[in-house]
Amino acid sequence: MSNRRDFLKNASLLTAGGLLVGNAGTMNAANAVSAPVVSAKKKLGLQIYSLQKELYDDIPKRMKELKEMGYVNLELAGYNKGKISDVDMMAFKKMAEDAGLKIVSSHVNPTIEGVPFLMEYKRDVFSQVSDYWKQAAADHVKLGCTFLVQPMMPMCRTYDEALMVCEFFNEAGKICNEAGLIYGYHNHHMEFQRLVKPGDEGKAQNPWMPAGDQIEDIFIANTNPSLVCFELDVYWTVRGGNDPLEYLQKHPGRIKAVHIKDTSVLGQSGLLNFENIFNQMYKNGIQDYFVELEYMPDGRTQFEGVKDCAAYLEKALFVR
Ligand code: MG
Repeated sequence: MSNRRDFLKNASLLTAGGLLVGNAGTMNAANAVSAPVVSAKKKLGLQIYSLQKELYDDIPKRMKELKEMGYVNLELAGYNKGKISDVDMMAFKKMAEDAGLKIVSSHVNPTIEGVPFLMEYKRDVFSQVSDYWKQAAADHVKLGCTFLVQPMMPMCRTYDEALMVCEFFNEAGKICNEAGLIYGYHNHHMEFQRLVKPGDEGKAQNPWMPAGDQIEDIFIANTNPSLVCFELDVYWTVRGGNDPLEYLQKHPGRIKAVHIKDTSVLGQSGLLNFENIFNQMYKNGIQDYFVELEYMPDGRTQFEGVKDCAAYLEKALFVR
């Protein structure tokens, strides 16, 4: 379906990127400059954390603005006992749907009674954490989302502690799977620290690398592929000294969603090769990605930043 906004968007693509061909390759030259040549809608997603408190001054209005920018999918942050920040989840869902946005994913950090931010796992809290996921999964099924994603790493000070954390992830994955959701884990940079397997102390893998395994690799190797997937944050992967392209190539079946993130507005730092990343994502069959913007310099608003990010992806010929 085409509308005026699509036409304007496509017209801007023509001026910014030259003539796009694709399915419109049979068009004659006159049509090519006077009618939309791209019919496929890009599935831009946004992690709402990017908006920080700017979202909450007028949620319906802000949601409509996001749709105008080109976003169609949302990943939530701020879930707590049936609410997103202080807003009832179902009211939040309605506001998103009224604006034409779909909630695809949600970031959820498990917590237990008396510990609002549970960062250290111990075996004796296993059943409490399980109960938390059961409630979170039931709440998110009502939202109709696909993914439930754990965004923060519990403490992994030793190899064995990391293996225990994997047991918690497998349990969360089992609960989400039974509820019809996909459980995922989202990385920052600390997952690329190395831990040495007991008995392997002092054994470097090669002379140029420190000993041990990166925590992200321990997680991938020791979680059940049918229950636990990974949401690769490409920016934090680079900050952790790794290549997101290599991770996408090495784990095509395990990474099912991606955070598209840069130092600030996408494409401005030169730190990330988004063309390579998107090409590999499509090759792997990854459909879901979410823009994340942590920081805007010079007093500009987060909304201005996410608008610039959307414009970058709309113009990018490698984003389909
Ligand atoms: Mg992220």
